[in-house]
Amino acid sequence: MRRARRTPPQPLNAMPELPEVETVRRGLAPVMEGRRIARVELRRDGLRWPFPPGMAGRLAGARVGALGRRSKYLLAGLDTGETLIVHLGMSGRLLVSGGGAARANPARFHHAHPAAEPHDHVVIDLDDGSRVTFNDPRRFGAMDLVATAALAAHPLLARLGPEPLGNRFSPETLRARLAGRRTPLKAALLDQRVVAGLGNIYVCEALWRAGLSPRRLARSVGPARAIRLHDAIRAVLADAIAAGGASLRDYRQADGELGYFQHRFAVYDRAGAPCPRPECTGTVHRIVQAGRSSFHCPSCQR
Ligand code: ZN
Repeated sequence: MRRARRTPPQPLNAMPELPEVETVRRGLAPVMEGRRIARVELRRDGLRWPFPPGMAGRLAGARVGALGRRSKYLLAGLDTGETLIVHLGMSGRLLVSGGGAARANPARFHHAHPAAEPHDHVVIDLDDGSRVTFNDPRRFGAMDLVATAALAAHPLLARLGPEPLGNRFSPETLRARLAGRRTPLKAALLDQRVVAGLGNIYVCEALWRAGLSPRRLARSVGPARAIRLHDAIRAVLADAIAAGGASLRDYRQADGELGYFQHRFAVYDRAGAPCPRPECTGTVHRIVQAGRSSFHCPSCQR
């Protein structure tokens, strides 16, 4: 049962966050891992930034190893010693069709390759006939191809904080990164150096789960609150990944299926609704912090 089929995606100004990218990774991994790239067609010179020199030629013939993720970046390790970095930006989608992917999972993937659409910018054909198409109407997405040995030093990755679902993220590391910050907690959690991969939606949801106000100063989070916040961040991300990511605006899963986590938001985009916490009689409020909407319940988030 997919509730998104009954309710179309909401027109929110939100970009894919960690759960959406992880959902795409899980959809793409069985399609790409172990396959050789037969051919790459670039239909423009770049997206947010120009493509690296000779990208299509450097990708052709390479075999894809593990398809990984760091924060909101997909990382396709290649047997050529390079790694393809993909960022979905605001509206990027990776669509799968044909070949082995369709034979292995005919209910999910189109057998025939669809006709090219205006915003199909990169087409990757694999050696089993599968095709991965990068479609991005707003072109805030990005691709780069770098030496795997130098990946950690890449400008997009070098300053990222710990992965929130990884072993290096603990209540102690979270508290240490919030300590001394005079900024509101909301802004601190959006800072990718504090924790990687969180955006507006999941920061709002994690703060609600933790019972912490988005206005609270980051440096005021002590050991007990750090545990609550750490656990809330992990739980909201895990729930979102289990639900298949949120489906917002142009985001879709790799196979074109819509996710439906937006129906489970407690506070995000729910201004005026009753707070869903059972013992709370408060109402969800929308405030603007640093130009971004924050949704919270002033009654139970302190
Ligand atoms: Zn409440």
